Amino acid sequence: MYTNTEKPTTNHIPITTIDAQNDIQQTIPVRPQLPAVVTAREQLSRARIRLTFSGDDVATFIRNKAAQAPGNWVKLFVPSSNGEIVGRAYTLRKFDLCMGTFEIDFFTHENGPASSWANSAQVGDTITFAGPRDGGFALNPISEWLVLIGDETCLSAIQVILSNLPSDLPGTVLIEVDDPDEHKPFFVGKNMKLQWIKRTHNPLKTDDALTKSLSNMEKLSGFGQAWVAGESSSVMVIRTFLQEKWKLDKESIRTKGYWKKGVTHFRS
Ligand SMILES: Cc1cc2nc3c(=O)[nH]c(=O)nc-3n(C[C@H](O)[C@H](O)[C@H](O)COP(=O)(O)OP(=O)(O)OC[C@H]3O[C@@H](n4cnc5c(N)ncnc54)[C@H](O)[C@@H]3O)c2cc1C
Repeated sequence: MYTNTEKPTTNHIPITTIDAQNDIQQTIPVRPQLPAVVTAREQLSRARIRLTFSGDDVATFIRNKAAQAPGNWVKLFVPSSNGEIVGRAYTLRKFDLCMGTFEIDFFTHENGPASSWANSAQVGDTITFAGPRDGGFALNPISEWLVLIGDETCLSAIQVILSNLPSDLPGTVLIEVDDPDEHKPFFVGKNMKLQWIKRTHNPLKTDDALTKSLSNMEKLSGFGQAWVAGESSSVMVIRTFLQEKWKLDKESIRTKGYWKKGVTHFRS
């Protein structure tokens, strides 16, 4: 058994979201912007929308192994209010090689070009995208547990990561949301604990719901990993907690600010 204060080897298992198939190309040249058409729209909750995208370029793109790795993402190019085209990051959720499609789940917050575009997107609408980009998750073969923490924007990444784990891997999934309508069931392994947290918007205060949940979270024994994404200041609080209280080293923690309160097109 390893602990997080020992230095384990960091060989990573390459994981794909679908079974390996002989005809999947290992790499394809990544072209800057590819067209895609919306072929399905589903309202998942009051604020989340799932769009399915297809097209010849999508069908080729999803055969790229890098597109299939859990948590990997693309930049979508959408019109802003002044007519400029701007890029925003979205996680690739599910691929269908037979249909040549991928899905993206959009959390539609109050304002922002990507949020507005998704809100009004209809079947037949077109968009361009570029990628794939690395989502920063790889399960270390020696990991005995995993902690996944995020918010509405990370549900896709967390669900794809979970669907690729050994089904008995222990761990905790913490998801911070504003609206209980987001509490939709999804698969977590039999030894994973799923906890929804109501956002209280004060990550630096000790009475903040997320801070409290972190303090109550049980640290399992042995070597483990954490993947954390979401609002940038919350991500920083969580990273500090995991480093200082749980003594996880940098290699065991992957964090990414997905958005920042009050900042347009935040990039961490
Ligand atoms: C690698 C990566 C993967 C991502 N994957 C997804 C995904 O699969 N699904 C998804 O929904 N999002 C995802 N995001 C987050 C998404 O890119 C941001 O929320 C983005 O800011 C949305 O763009 P926008 O044009 O709507 O808003 P922007 O123009 O960027 O911002 C406008 C205003 O909205 C605020 N804002 C932005 N996001 C939120 C939010 N979530 N809640 C409340 N206010 C917000 C900003 O603070 C700003 O004040 C991902 C981000 C990254 C970096």
